[in-house]
Amino acid sequence: MATSLLGYGVEVFERDDYRCVYCGLDCRSFELWRFLTVDHLLPNIPEYKDTRESLGWKATACQFCNSADNKFFKKNEITDKMKPEEIIKMRLEGIRKTTAKYYKHWLKEVAEKRLKKLEPVCRSQ
Ligand SMILES: [Zn+2]
Repeated sequence: MATSLLGYGVEVFERDDYRCVYCGLDCRSFELWRFLTVDHLLPNIPEYKDTRESLGWKATACQFCNSADNKFFKKNEITDKMKPEEIIKMRLEGIRKTTAKYYKHWLKEVAEKRLKKLEPVCRSQ
């Protein structure tokens, strides 16, 4: 389970207004709050052991965005000499590519084939 929800993520989520810094997903509702994660912007290496846990090097990410580009640290040379905003921008590129791929799949395989068969959901109250 994500322990970030029960403790160490709170200050990160507060700073980012409970929104994914990558896709902007608003996770203030309980249903979506459960999918919040803390994205560490520095690689998990002994050299950055303490730095990567400080607030400035963490960002709020939804589960999808946090895992969308899991080869990010293998593909890029990330150091603490960079700015966190710079790293977020770099991460965004890979996340956007993955999102586009999944969106294409969702349109073709989910929305057209599956969701059309379902009863429309009425959300007005
Ligand atoms: Zn996201």
